[in-house]
Amino acid sequence: MPAASANPDFIIIGSGSSGGVIAARLSEDPNAKILVLEAGRRERSLRLAMPILFPFVMADPKFNWGYMGEPEPFANGRQIRQPRGKAIGGSSMINGMLYARGHPRDYDEWRQLGNEGWSYDDVLPYFKKSENHWGAADQWHGKGGPLSIKQQPKDSDLYRRFIAAVEKLGYPERDSFHRAEQEGWGPPPLCIHEGTRASTAARFLIPAMSRPNLTVETGALVTRIEVENGRAVAVHYRDHAGQDRRVTANNEIIVSGGAYNSPQLLHLSGIGPADELRALGIEPVHDLPGVGANLQDHPSVAMVLHALRNVTLTNALRLDRAALSALHWLLNRGGMIADMPVTANGFIKTRPELERPDAQCLFQPTMIGAQLWAPGWRKPKPDVVAMACVLLRPEGRGWVKLQSADPGDKPRILSNVLSTENDRAFFRRLIPQLREIFATSPLADVLGAEVMPGADVRTPDEIDAWVRTACNTALHPVGTCAMGKDAMAVVDARLRVHGLTGLRVADASIMPRICGGNTNAACIMIGEKAADMVKQDNGLAMA
Ligand SMILES: Cc1cc2nc3c(=O)[nH]c(=O)nc-3n(C[C@H](O)[C@H](O)[C@H](O)COP(=O)(O)OP(=O)(O)OC[C@H]3O[C@@H](n4cnc5c(N)ncnc54)[C@H](O)[C@@H]3O)c2cc1C
Repeated sequence: MPAASANPDFIIIGSGSSGGVIAARLSEDPNAKILVLEAGRRERSLRLAMPILFPFVMADPKFNWGYMGEPEPFANGRQIRQPRGKAIGGSSMINGMLYARGHPRDYDEWRQLGNEGWSYDDVLPYFKKSENHWGAADQWHGKGGPLSIKQQPKDSDLYRRFIAAVEKLGYPERDSFHRAEQEGWGPPPLCIHEGTRASTAARFLIPAMSRPNLTVETGALVTRIEVENGRAVAVHYRDHAGQDRRVTANNEIIVSGGAYNSPQLLHLSGIGPADELRALGIEPVHDLPGVGANLQDHPSVAMVLHALRNVTLTNALRLDRAALSALHWLLNRGGMIADMPVTANGFIKTRPELERPDAQCLFQPTMIGAQLWAPGWRKPKPDVVAMACVLLRPEGRGWVKLQSADPGDKPRILSNVLSTENDRAFFRRLIPQLREIFATSPLADVLGAEVMPGADVRTPDEIDAWVRTACNTALHPVGTCAMGKDAMAVVDARLRVHGLTGLRVADASIMPRICGGNTNAACIMIGEKAADMVKQDNGLAMA
């Protein structure tokens, strides 16, 4: 460590799922001086803590970068909304709280791509380190970590009917999707701590903020990283009052802005594809063609069916009952508000010969857009259940580019959903497969007609056409500063930006390939592992 100085030793840009964890872990060493620069604020709204309010929170511009994608060429030119958390805690403040790691093979593939230290055996200790599993610790699950994982209750009528139906069709019921076998259906694991959202803000960063060696500056939009003789030395940012500031780092700068903002910031700093940057009037500092390329996300559609009212969320959404639930939550953090309305989670194969599931499906007793109602005030929405259908390992690759050299401009985003024949064929297989489940009793006994895609969508061409109109992304962008050794790689296996010193990227953007499941847990793992690598490389105390 260098001699004591007024400057921070480490500057972390972004306090989200990865950055918040890195800051909490690095500040465990009282000799390391950490500065976190976060564009968002510290949010204290109870709405963010209430799990059931997720659909409203994710759409609220107050804590959201509010991105909108470019017209998607393979999805009828539609633009896909891309919410991203802008607050201490980043996207973990607005996400759906589903806990998933993906499949062990996903990480073994990262290792096979040349990334030493990233096989599943290597990363499992980091998943376990963060985890506070609802059950006992075992070979696969950690106990006592900051990130509480609870299991959704299994006692609803709809869950029992669903499991009985899928078991008839030969799918196993799984108590955990993170043991040796993943394929099957079961209650979803959720990042919820004592009835409240277990964001990285609540569970990692805010508890560490009383440490004198950790400063978290909010409302600080980083606009550029300054590179001198191949070394990242300083960060330029606009503070909460709109003042331009510059701060130098004694040791390292760590970029954790997420899969859209990290490449955007590198581009603004002249680090990226030189020709593209020049065309925008940015003087290239370091030609790195992979920055912003390789964008991957999970294409996703929702099937919707009518259902009997007593298995949907409608009864619970009657105003008087909802008010009682709110009181219940305020008094003891329990009841309906303390859970996500997801009945069952499935990892399934659309082709039996696959070595791992290629679909994740979430069965819900309602659909996005459900609202409170009361007789004489507002009619309830139709009684429906929904199934979110997610392609886990898409072949399609998109990109993130700059709109202009202005750091205040939103980045351009193209997810490129459905751009390959295999990605489209996946939905042609999955939709009939799920229809078979819906048609099996005792689930079928409480379901009615299909609303989406609808009974008239049957042939492969009809399914293709509907998917083009309905496909969004699951809001899991990754891969835009990919780790690797090839010409398009941006960071090495220790997350150091190729060709520069003093600069790492650590967040969703470093994943060379998207993991087969929701991405928050993987980003937290990346934060845990990055913190250890930074500690090792800078002689900090290992916890
Ligand atoms: C609506 C939604 C629902 C989701 N649901 C789930 C789910 O149920 N389960 C799951 O596992 N995953 C889910 N995800 C995905 C998951 O939350 C993300 O993959 C993960 O949070 C990304 O972590 P990150 O550290 O890469 O980025 P983020 O958590 O987004 O953090 C980036 C941080 O950097 C800050 N920042 C960015 N640029 C700058 C800058 N220039 N200057 C200063 N600060 C900056 C941002 O404000 C933010 O705080 C969801 C995501 C969204 C948006």
